[in-house]
Amino acid sequence: MGVSKSDAILIVGGGAFGLSTAFHLAQKGYTNVSVFEKDDHIPPRYSAANDLNKIVRAEYEDPFYTDLTIKAIAAWKTPLFAPHFHQTGFLHCVSGDAPKEAIDTLNRFRASAERNSQIKPHVSALDGESDIRQTCWQLDGPLPGWKGYFNRFDGYAHSGNALAGIYRAAQAAGVRFFLGEQGAVDEIVYVSTVNGRKCAGIRTKNGRFHSSALVIVAAGANAGRLVPQIGQQVVAKSWSVAHVQLTDDETSGLRGIPVTYARDLGFFFEPDPKTNLLKLCPMGGGYINTDPRTGVSLSPESLKESAFVPEEDEKQMRKLLAQTLPSLADRPLVKKSLCWFADTNDSDFIIDYVPNLESSLMLLSGDSGHLFKMFPIAGSWVTDLLEAPDNKQALARWRWKQPDPNAGKDWGGAVSWRLGESKEFSAILPPKASKL
Ligand SMILES: Cc1cc2nc3c(=O)[nH]c(=O)nc-3n(C[C@H](O)[C@H](O)[C@H](O)COP(=O)(O)OP(=O)(O)OC[C@H]3O[C@@H](n4cnc5c(N)ncnc54)[C@H](O)[C@@H]3O)c2cc1C
Repeated sequence: MGVSKSDAILIVGGGAFGLSTAFHLAQKGYTNVSVFEKDDHIPPRYSAANDLNKIVRAEYEDPFYTDLTIKAIAAWKTPLFAPHFHQTGFLHCVSGDAPKEAIDTLNRFRASAERNSQIKPHVSALDGESDIRQTCWQLDGPLPGWKGYFNRFDGYAHSGNALAGIYRAAQAAGVRFFLGEQGAVDEIVYVSTVNGRKCAGIRTKNGRFHSSALVIVAAGANAGRLVPQIGQQVVAKSWSVAHVQLTDDETSGLRGIPVTYARDLGFFFEPDPKTNLLKLCPMGGGYINTDPRTGVSLSPESLKESAFVPEEDEKQMRKLLAQTLPSLADRPLVKKSLCWFADTNDSDFIIDYVPNLESSLMLLSGDSGHLFKMFPIAGSWVTDLLEAPDNKQALARWRWKQPDPNAGKDWGGAVSWRLGESKEFSAILPPKASKL
């Protein structure tokens, strides 16, 4: 075992991985845990999880993640997490224009749901417009050629509120939080040892050094800046997000609708009753920000740079609305942004010590755009690793990987559950406003 229960453990990042880890460490009796977050509040604006909602669906093409999500859903139903979980069901379809790739992916998801004895009883077929309208009468659009299934086992979580709730719970359990200038980590500090070197702590933006027995980096799409050793194993990638502002009555009228997802068009959620915002995401291959000198994609430093969505995504979101909720299809889209996450080529997470540093630095990364649903349990994977007698990640798929011969090639289109190739961020930037 690497660290004792009273050793200083510093977590960099107060997003999904970081907060879940802080909470689980406190639950397991670790008494000297601090979280460093560069934003001055939690939920942080930089966190991919600081959002109105994230899909919580249990069916994965890979049964390993299905089993984990079933555990996560059980945990979502416990008192601390339950206020943020809404089991509205998942209406999962393709439109009549969907390419074969999208239909095949849908069929694999459906087969996964029907293979699992816990999920299967909740699944029903949707063989066209009339089945869909029987499931959700509010979808009054033409639904041209829509087909798929409905899964009542699934739903969504209010991710921003869940982050805030676990932040409060971790604080109450004794975890210390450093936010803003005090929490923005500039560098990981290393010292030489007889065997090589190890991590001695972190230095924050205000110049302060914090020593530690263990640093856990949970910096989302920003991981490569603090742990450049990760190289091309992790690619900062983004997807578009936009919202329609509804009235109180419109929100009320859409209360309880399932997460509605056409694999070829994207998805939307039940509107948020507090803000009256209906969130849309067109998905696709996403956008990467490759540094041509290193071949590594890092997220842009400022939020302002990502406060837009490309025109083609906007068109796709409007098409999705025109087919499902046509009265909203021509409404302004508001709160548009590109949301950055840390992608891997196999969609597996990375939960491991950084090699050759005497188990003094751990990386939680590679969320691959599907971690949030695991929020209630993700931190338990870290305590499992801390308590592993050989300091070794027992699950090969979550280990730090050796350099990949395919590194640098784009894998956006190769991940079956996302359609389309990734594009470079520089190619989609809106034209700068004229100074004249
Ligand atoms: C558009 C979109 C839709 C998604 N939909 C879903 C979904 O439906 N279901 C699902 O399960 N998942 C979904 N995800 C994925 C989910 O949001 C992520 O998997 C999850 O947020 C990753 O957690 P994280 O802790 O690794 O990173 P984040 O939540 O991004 O947190 C990283 C934190 O680190 C902080 N940080 C970074 N650098 C520093 C530094 N130097 N010093 C201090 N702090 C730092 C940041 O400020 C941030 O708060 C989606 C992601 C996107 C982008």
